[in-house]
Amino acid sequence: MPGDSPSDDAAGERAQYTEPELQGIRAAWAAVGEATCPRCGVRMQSRAIGGGSFGLGYARRRTWLLCSRCRRSAIFDEARGTRT
Ligand SMILES: [Zn+2]
Repeated sequence: MPGDSPSDDAAGERAQYTEPELQGIRAAWAAVGEATCPRCGVRMQSRAIGGGSFGLGYARRRTWLLCSRCRRSAIFDEARGTRT
């Protein structure tokens, strides 16, 4: 069905944090193991993501932080500075 749906290609246009916000979240998470959404002020849920499931091929642990209110999320590498 060509061109029937109204520009749904812009699905990647969902709300995201800005780079400064991401840095603040990352800093908070690295410091105290949790982070607060800079927009909502609610504590973000954290979820560990096992490596290899994203087709990358190498096992890399990541942490996914999700705000349950605004649904914004951020993904950080768990191994900080240990890239060999
Ligand atoms: Zn939020």
